[in-house]
Amino acid sequence: MNAEAGNELGLGLERRIGKRSAAPIEKHLGITTVGGLLNHFPRRYMNRGELTPISEVPLDEEVTLIARVVSSSTRAMRARRGSLTDVVISDDAAAPGTGMGGGTLKVSFFNGFRAKAELQPGRRAMFSGKVTRYGGALGLTNPDFQLLDEDPDTPGMDPEKLAAMPIPVYPATAKLTSWAIQKVIATLLETVDLDALPDPLPAEVTAREKFLAVADAYRLIHTPQNPADWQRARDRFRYQEALVLQAALARRRAQLAAEEATARRPAAEGLLTAFDRQLPFTLTAGQAAVGKTLAAELAQDSPMNRLLQGEVGSGKTIVALRAMLQVVDAGGQAALLAPTEVLAAQHFESIRRTLGPLSRDGLLGGLGPDAVQVTLLTGSMPTAARKQAMLDAASGTAGIVIGTHALLSDNVSFYDLGLIVVDEQHRFGVEQRDVLRSKASKPPHLLVMTATPIPRTVAMTVFGDLETSVLDELPAGRAPITTHVVGLAEHPAWAPRIWTRSREEIDAGHQVYIVCPKIGSDDDGDFSPGEAEPTDLNGDSGARELASVTAVVDQLRDEPALAGVPVAALHGRLDPVLKSGTMASFTANQTKLLVSTTVIEVGVDVHNATLMVILDADRFGISQLHQLRGRVGRGGLPGTCLLVTTLEPGHPSRRRLDAVAATTDGFELSQEDLKLRREGDILGASQSGGRSTLKLLRVLEHEDVIARARQDAWQIVGGDPSLGAHPVLAAAIDEYLNPEKEAFLERG
Ligand code: ADP
Ligand code: MG
Repeated sequence: MNAEAGNELGLGLERRIGKRSAAPIEKHLGITTVGGLLNHFPRRYMNRGELTPISEVPLDEEVTLIARVVSSSTRAMRARRGSLTDVVISDDAAAPGTGMGGGTLKVSFFNGFRAKAELQPGRRAMFSGKVTRYGGALGLTNPDFQLLDEDPDTPGMDPEKLAAMPIPVYPATAKLTSWAIQKVIATLLETVDLDALPDPLPAEVTAREKFLAVADAYRLIHTPQNPADWQRARDRFRYQEALVLQAALARRRAQLAAEEATARRPAAEGLLTAFDRQLPFTLTAGQAAVGKTLAAELAQDSPMNRLLQGEVGSGKTIVALRAMLQVVDAGGQAALLAPTEVLAAQHFESIRRTLGPLSRDGLLGGLGPDAVQVTLLTGSMPTAARKQAMLDAASGTAGIVIGTHALLSDNVSFYDLGLIVVDEQHRFGVEQRDVLRSKASKPPHLLVMTATPIPRTVAMTVFGDLETSVLDELPAGRAPITTHVVGLAEHPAWAPRIWTRSREEIDAGHQVYIVCPKIGSDDDGDFSPGEAEPTDLNGDSGARELASVTAVVDQLRDEPALAGVPVAALHGRLDPVLKSGTMASFTANQTKLLVSTTVIEVGVDVHNATLMVILDADRFGISQLHQLRGRVGRGGLPGTCLLVTTLEPGHPSRRRLDAVAATTDGFELSQEDLKLRREGDILGASQSGGRSTLKLLRVLEHEDVIARARQDAWQIVGGDPSLGAHPVLAAAIDEYLNPEKEAFLERG
C-alpha cells in the first residue's frame, strides 16, 4: 500500500476542505476525517422528475422531499412583528388544489422573504425539515428548501441530462441539510486524489465481479449522472463491506484454529460410556451425529469452536453433557454458562438428576473416580457456598461447573478447563466468550448452543467464526403445541375464560404458566440482569396498564375459578433463595399455577406444565414468544399457548402474534422476525463492543453477496492468514472491528 494514500483517508477533514466547511460536518455528523466523509454515503436517491408521496412521509422525522407548490399566501402576524407565509405543497401534480387529502403538506415560514419570492405556484422544490402534525394536518415549519427547476450549480446543462440526474439524499440533521452535505462532499471529491486511494478489494475480485475502481465508485456514489451509476457504486461498496466483515471472521477463525488446545480423547470405559448405558431413551439421529462430530473435535489438539443450533426442546443439553463427560473422562473440567440464575439452577438440578449415581456434589465427596462432582456457581449464592464452589473449581475437585456470568468474574479460576459450553447464546457476545476462554491456560474447546434458529446469512455474519451444527428433529413422542391469539379488544368475554381454562388444566392434574411483561404495577425499569425486559415494541409505553406479576397474583386470589389453587410468583427481583424455592415447588407439582416474568423464557423444564398464558403478549418479540411457549408440551402431553392481547385486530404489533400462532417452525419464525424487526436489533447483541453497524449490507436481502464474499474471504485468509499481502484489507478490518480506536489515532 502506498503510505501517502493510506494516510489520505485518515487525514483530518480540514486539511482538505478548510476549517469553515469541516467544522459543521464535525459538529453535526461527528465526522473528522477524509475517509469518514467519503464513506458517508447517501441514504437514498431522489429523482428530479419525481414527487414524494406525501402520505408516506414519516411524522416527527427529518425528511427531504420533492413537491410542487400549490398555493402561497403571506400575511402580517397579529401578536408580534413580522409576516407569516403559508405555502401548500403537493405530490399530486395532476390535480393541484383538488388533492387536498393526504397528498398535501402545509409549509409555514416566519418572515420567509425568500420563500415568498421563490415558492410560486407550479414551482417544484426540494424541502428538508421535520414533519409535524397540527390538528390533523401534516406540516413543515421553516424548512430548508431549494428550487429544482433550474439548477444554479450547473448552468447550461442539457435539461434532459439534468432531469435524469439523481439527487443524493444524505443522512442529515436539523442543522445540516442533505444538500449542504452534498456541497461539502462535492468539494472534497475535487480536492482529494481519488485515484491514489487504497482499495481493500483484491484486483482479482474487482475484475471477476466487474466492479468499478474505487475512485470511480466514490465519484458515482456521491455524484451519479443516472441511476445506474449509483447502483454500480453501491454494489461495489456493499460487496466490500461484506468482504471486510467475512475476512474479519475468517481471520478470527484462523487465529482460533491455529491455537493449541489439549486433546480430550474419549476413554474406553469412563463416565460417558456408563452414562450412555443408563440413558432412559435413545438419542435422536441428529443427537448421535452431532455427538460424533463433537467427540472427534474434542480429541484434536486444536480447539473446537462450534455453534449448535437446535429448536426449543430438541435435546441440546444431553449433547452438551455427553461432550462434558468426555472431557472429564480425559481429566479436564467443563463449564456450562447460562444466561440467568434460574436457568443455571435448573441446569444444575437436571444435569445432576440425569447423571444420577454418576454425579456427586461437594458434600458427599470422595466417591471415587466413577462419579463427577457437579458444582453450581452463581452470584447470588451465600458467600460460604460460593467460596467453596470457587475453591472446587480452582482445585479441580469440580468436574462440571454450572453458572451464570458470575463465572466470568476475575476471581473465578479453574484447575484445567477443557470445555466451555455457552447455553442460549443470544444473551452472550463475542467478548464474553473471550473472557471465559482466557480462564484456561491453554485455549479450551468451545460449544455455543442457541435455541433461536438463525437464518443462514445471520449465522454467517454473527457466528461466522464458529462451525455450525444443527439439531433439526425433536425427540420422538413430543406433543404438539397449539397456539391461539386471544384478542380481548374484540372478545372481552374471553377474559374470564382464561381462568376457567387454567382451572380445567389443573383439575386434569397439569400445571399452568402465566407470563406478564412487568413485575409490579408501578415499575418500569426494574428487570433484573438476565431477565429480558420487553422492549417498547409498540411505541405505546404508558398508554395502557400492562399486566404485572404482583397485580395478577392479587387478582387471582379473588378469582372464583381458581379458588383453592396453589399460586406462586416468580421474577428477577425475588430473593434468590425464595426464587429457587418457588421453582422447586413448581417442579415438584406443589404449585399448580406460576405467575412469572420472562425468567422462565429459556430452558426451564417442567414436564407436567401444559398451558401457558402470555398476557399482553404483544409486548414480546417473536423469538421470545417462541421460546416461552417451548416451556409447555415437554412431557408428552399436548401443550397450549394463549397469546392474550388488548390491541385491536388490525394493529401492526398483532402481526407478530399471528405469525407465532401460525407456525411452530422456528426457522420460518426467525425469517419473519427479521422482516418485522429492524436488523440492528438482531445483530445488536453480538455486535456490541464498539463495532460499527452494517451500512449497505442487509443480512436477509443480500444472501448471495454474503455467500460470495465469504468464499473470497476464506480463500484470501486461507492463503495469507496474517493478511501480510493484503494490508489495505487488514486495515479495513481493524477499522471495522475498532472504529473508536481508529478515530482516536486519527485525531492524535
Ligand atoms: P433444548 O434443546 O431446548 O435445550 P433439552 O435439552 O432441555 O432441550 O431437552 C428437552 C427434553 O427432552 C429434556 O427433558 C430431555 O431429557 C429430553 N430429551 C432429550 N433428548 C431426548 C431423546 N433422544 N429422547 C427423548 N427425550 C429426550
Ligand atoms: Mg436448553
